[in-house]
Amino acid sequence: MNSLQKLEILADAAKYDASCASSGAARKDSTGGKGVGSTGGTGICHSYTPDGRCISLLKVLLTNVCLYDCHYCINRRSSNVRRARFTPEEVVDLTLSFYKRNYIEGLFLSSGIVRSADYTMELVIKVAKSLREQHHFRGYIHLKTIPEASPELIAEAGKYADRLSINVELPTPEGLKILAPEKNVHRTRDAMATIQSKITETKETCKELKKANSRVKKPTYASGQSTQMIVGADQSNDSQFLNRAGDLYGNFKLRRVYYSAFSPIPEPSVILPLKSPPLIREHRLYQADWLMRFYKFDVNELTTAQAPNLELDIDPKLSWALRNRSFFPIDLNRSPLEMLFRIPGLGVRNAQRIVGLRRHHAVRLEDLVKLRVNLKKTLPFMICVNHNPAKLELDSAALRAKFAPPPEQIEMDFSTPIIVPKATSMTAQQEAKHGEF
Ligand code: SF4
Repeated sequence: MNSLQKLEILADAAKYDASCASSGAARKDSTGGKGVGSTGGTGICHSYTPDGRCISLLKVLLTNVCLYDCHYCINRRSSNVRRARFTPEEVVDLTLSFYKRNYIEGLFLSSGIVRSADYTMELVIKVAKSLREQHHFRGYIHLKTIPEASPELIAEAGKYADRLSINVELPTPEGLKILAPEKNVHRTRDAMATIQSKITETKETCKELKKANSRVKKPTYASGQSTQMIVGADQSNDSQFLNRAGDLYGNFKLRRVYYSAFSPIPEPSVILPLKSPPLIREHRLYQADWLMRFYKFDVNELTTAQAPNLELDIDPKLSWALRNRSFFPIDLNRSPLEMLFRIPGLGVRNAQRIVGLRRHHAVRLEDLVKLRVNLKKTLPFMICVNHNPAKLELDSAALRAKFAPPPEQIEMDFSTPIIVPKATSMTAQQEAKHGEF
């Protein structure tokens, strides 16, 4: 099998993994003509999305052979798919030649587990180490780590990668037991803790060296870790997903948790659902996740015991506002920033701009128009100099209907379902879209 045929199989097998964004990675410098693939030095131009994300990566598996039998995975042991395996040298060559042709700006490398977790992890590290040390590759590298590998190897991977990730896959140990019986939630947590402690240790060392104005070379280590959870492969509800995400952000300082709507795979295991969940569910989870990270929402505010799933027809912030109407209207001219974050339709940046504006003059509706605030959503929930919503409107049972899309006639579809694998990760525009609501 030649490299192209292998690439066809192994790039296709990697597309189900969504946790490959690079936001927050430190940009390396190739000034002086040393090294290739710099994401920030002069001479080589790279395009970054507003959140700093690198948008073209060679996303590939080292091999799609796997000892494990995770039911949701196309590469599982019992799956009847074509198998292929790259050598570390082949991945290094591919990365460099794709980079030099300007096809990619970095590498996302994952792998099925062959022989043992340690053996596989060693191969993955070999690729990154060779790229960094032999070929001076200074582009972005994201390595998928294997929680079952030894802590020393997991820690070593971070020396060559900008980002590490370990997929949690399912939010509950029960779900994992059914769908990925060989995986263990405790091992995953231990591996995440290993990575987090190395990240913190490196940051501390760098801080001390800077403070001492030392000329000693600062150690480098991955700037963060991320994970992915599959939505809709088991019965877990949104509250369980968000609680798990909250736990990971809080305890392991994860950069991102990705929610990937379960995508039916060819020849699926019988215990999997036949259909994907609606994609809007994945989108609502991203919005709720955004609220926890940037809008200071507590995970328990986003769902309730009676309704553990997010509403699909309206966004989670609006949903919270409609459930907590006594909190409104909020005065744009007097309320603290954290309260402005609660107003539906008002993003973090606009809330900050409003706080800045009111130092100079009282905020008026015209200011909101200039800031291009979503007035339809915002007006019922806020007060400013020339706007005070009628209390009646805020209390009206009809308020929700104003925002929800009109009900649709359900159509029965008797045609054969066409299963299209879903896109691998959010595009830059999609990601940006999650930010303001
Ligand atoms: S360990 Fe990874 S590659 Fe192997 S079956 Fe499970 S999810 Fe797939």
